[in-house]
Amino acid sequence: MMFADLHLHTNFSDGTYTPEELAAHGHRHGLAAMALTDHDTVEGCERMAAACETDGIEFISGAELTAEIRGIELHLLAYCVDLHNQKLLMEVGRFQLVRQNRIREMVARLNELNVPLQADAVFAIANCRSPGRPHVARALVQAGLCGSLDEAFERFLKVNRPAWVPKFKMSALDTITLVHQAGGVAVMAHPGLNRTDEIIPELAQAGLDGLECFHSRHSTATSNHYLQMADEFGLLVTGGSDCHGMNKGRPLIGSIKLPYQHVEALKAKAAQQRAKLAPPV
Ligand SMILES: [Zn+2]
Ligand SMILES: [Zn+2]
Repeated sequence: MMFADLHLHTNFSDGTYTPEELAAHGHRHGLAAMALTDHDTVEGCERMAAACETDGIEFISGAELTAEIRGIELHLLAYCVDLHNQKLLMEVGRFQLVRQNRIREMVARLNELNVPLQADAVFAIANCRSPGRPHVARALVQAGLCGSLDEAFERFLKVNRPAWVPKFKMSALDTITLVHQAGGVAVMAHPGLNRTDEIIPELAQAGLDGLECFHSRHSTATSNHYLQMADEFGLLVTGGSDCHGMNKGRPLIGSIKLPYQHVEALKAKAAQQRAKLAPPV
């Protein structure tokens, strides 16, 4: 039996592993295929592809894009996208600027609270173009301003805490279109963490391709529930660990082993998508 993990992060966003380290872990867990899904970026994909090739693992390009529909935030996984697609790269660049400005705003709020953190300290820790709240939390701990990452989130960074800043999000429908025109397929990430099943019919109607039924934080019952929904709406089934390296205590890679047949179905759908885009001959 061959298995895949289609939800993984590196230090190109808020994971701690480099692409090479991540591929090595995948190899150790016997994965046949891996997808890289860093937040709002595809920058790590080229190195991850090379590392996977070295380790004899099939690589699926990807990203995890933050989006919204009717005020509800969701994460959309983009798979098999063309990494040189201009529109995709432009939009991703815009997401990254939004993220960087958001960091500056959070730091400004912390400063108003007499927490003397500097934005540059956050950017130094993030060392990537997709910085996020975990990097602010790490900077707070490193500067001795908070005792732990949890404390940083509880006191300052969680939704509606004093240094929290709302994030601009692209509409889910535009995001699905963006992924499609880049030759990829769009999958709703960890629906079991969202608990907003009411948006799924609307997303399916708008061209959503799949549901991440298997996730390290889904129970068996939750996975089964979304397998049923995927079946009902004719959506692909995907799964991944959402491993962030050592960021969330222990590495989650290896906790989800998606049967390879789902990767085949994903690739077939992407091939269909690209055929639709090909200019008529
Ligand atoms: Zn996510
Ligand atoms: Zn993720």
